[in-house]
Amino acid sequence: MTAQQGNISVEADNIFPIIKRFLYSDQEIFLRELVANAVDATSKVQTLANRSEVKGELGDLTIQIKLDEEAKTLTISDAGIGMTEEEVNTYLNQVAFSSAEAFLKKYEGETQIIGHFGLGFYSAFMVAEKVEVVTRSYKSDAAVRWTCEGDPTFTLEPAERDRRGTDIILHIGDEEKEFLEKSRIEGLLTKYCKFLPTAIQFGTKTETEYEGEGDDAKEIKTEVPNVINNTHPIWKKKASELKDEDYLQLFDELYPYSDKPLFWIHLSIDHPFNLTGVLYFPKVARSVEVQKNKIQLYSNQVYVTDDVSEIVPEFLTLLQGVIDSPDIPLNVSRSALQSDRNVRKITSYITKKVADKLESMYKNDREDFEEKWSDIGVFVKYGMLTNDKFAERGKDFALLKNVDGKHHSIDEYVEFIKANQTDKHDKTIGIYTNNVTDHDSFIQSAKSYGYDVLELDPVIDTHFVQHLEQKRGDITFVRVDSDTVDNLVQKDETRESVLSENEETKVKSLFDTATTAEADVQLKPLSPEDLPVMITRPEFMRRWKEMQAHQGGPMAGMDMPDRYNVVINSNHPLISGKLLKMRKDDKKAAFAKHLVNLALLNQNMLKGADLTAFIKESVEFLHES
Ligand code: ADP
Repeated sequence: MTAQQGNISVEADNIFPIIKRFLYSDQEIFLRELVANAVDATSKVQTLANRSEVKGELGDLTIQIKLDEEAKTLTISDAGIGMTEEEVNTYLNQVAFSSAEAFLKKYEGETQIIGHFGLGFYSAFMVAEKVEVVTRSYKSDAAVRWTCEGDPTFTLEPAERDRRGTDIILHIGDEEKEFLEKSRIEGLLTKYCKFLPTAIQFGTKTETEYEGEGDDAKEIKTEVPNVINNTHPIWKKKASELKDEDYLQLFDELYPYSDKPLFWIHLSIDHPFNLTGVLYFPKVARSVEVQKNKIQLYSNQVYVTDDVSEIVPEFLTLLQGVIDSPDIPLNVSRSALQSDRNVRKITSYITKKVADKLESMYKNDREDFEEKWSDIGVFVKYGMLTNDKFAERGKDFALLKNVDGKHHSIDEYVEFIKANQTDKHDKTIGIYTNNVTDHDSFIQSAKSYGYDVLELDPVIDTHFVQHLEQKRGDITFVRVDSDTVDNLVQKDETRESVLSENEETKVKSLFDTATTAEADVQLKPLSPEDLPVMITRPEFMRRWKEMQAHQGGPMAGMDMPDRYNVVINSNHPLISGKLLKMRKDDKKAAFAKHLVNLALLNQNMLKGADLTAFIKESVEFLHES
């Protein structure tokens, strides 16, 4: 053959500035594209060998990545199918002409090919000022060298290569010299190529072994090939062939030094789309501020991204693991991705698989499920709040835990409290706390009425109970401190007050003076065993304020004064006895104030100097009696 010169045919005058500019933000993907091409070329030669279209031994198929700092080159070599002169003309000189599709059509079902954009190769020009391709086709004895310096001209000439395959030699530009650093390249290979199906070697590494024991142990160092990837990741295998250790090992490979996952789901589907993967449930504990972007998306074992927000529903981004699907279109915009039919099917498949797994855990090992609930509860509730389909499934296995640590499903719970906690309007009332310490005295009085108290998460559960109220309609939730215990579940029975009308007016006016303007003072004939004075904040008011705080401040014109109730237990001996029997009016006023402070203390609302003053006063009152 004779040396030739020619023009690369592209529609635009010069594609190179476009490549540099548009692909620039993701400059580093050039290596993934070139290694993926090398893997494709290797898979192709294997397919042909299987069909005896390539004769003889295939030899070592390892892809070699080599850095030459002096020559300023980075070389990717494969022993794949190679290219003939015509093929170089067709595939390299016509930008955006990809042979992958033609090959896939011809050998449908027998092969897996990564590339299909027909632009991957040109990403080399993002980092190289000159690209050389030395390639020899499996069909030919001669090799060719294609050279291009990042402008629309190329040279194609005869070359030497001792066997089938391709070398892509990148002459790295000065501005991109980071890509001549060993650690940078190793980093990129581990990021993008960790699970590619053909072995990829990047130089060698030293392995140290010890012979003998103790101080006499002899260090033996050996140079071994530095193979970057695990060519058979477990998500490509059948779940029935795998053991727990295999899943834990992959987890460790993906997230070194992380806490062990709680459990996992093996994803595998062929039809109507192809998807494999493993999703891990991390230990989320009680926090919702968990890290997202922990699921890695692959396409035929090539790493694509860790941003899967368009593919899995938001609540599932709390999970970790791998999704591998060649059916997710990668060359479209994010918004187009969301409306893609395949992607929508994939999204609901994953949601369903997660719900299936949780349901089977709930049904098959309830005890274990309850144990894990503190970690997966946030996830399940968040999922139910944000995804209707998941909410439909989650209602059957979501759990409610009470302050004694007992779990119930939602249906079970309604059944459990119905008899004692249904009010005169036939509504079942769930009573909850989200702070066991602060609400201790309220919890104790609720228990004394035989009520069950749920322990809810302060962050997510305000929303979750609201969701349950709306979806079910047969249950309402109130926080244990939202009213006096007799009023939490409103029944018809009322207790008699031991005070006369006159005395009640007197007590009321004493407490009106002892409290601030935001307080509504009410007298109630509670049990003498209950506290003398209690501060409650109506449920709706508190939720409203919480919502506002959540949304970052009150909405214009919709602010509500922050009122609260001060309930005086007229049957308590400190009110009916001690207070009313005091002779001096200023003494009465001081004692009323003192009892209000006691109620504040009970709510953890009395702090600092006020608290010190309260204790002093308390001592004085004790002395008197
Ligand atoms: P894609 O990989 O999307 O098909 P590329 O621009 O990366 O597009 O490559 C275009 C074509 O060039 C490939 O389809 C393939 O036929 C050929 N090619 C690229 N790299 C190699 C290689 N290492 N060995 C053999 N053929 C290759």
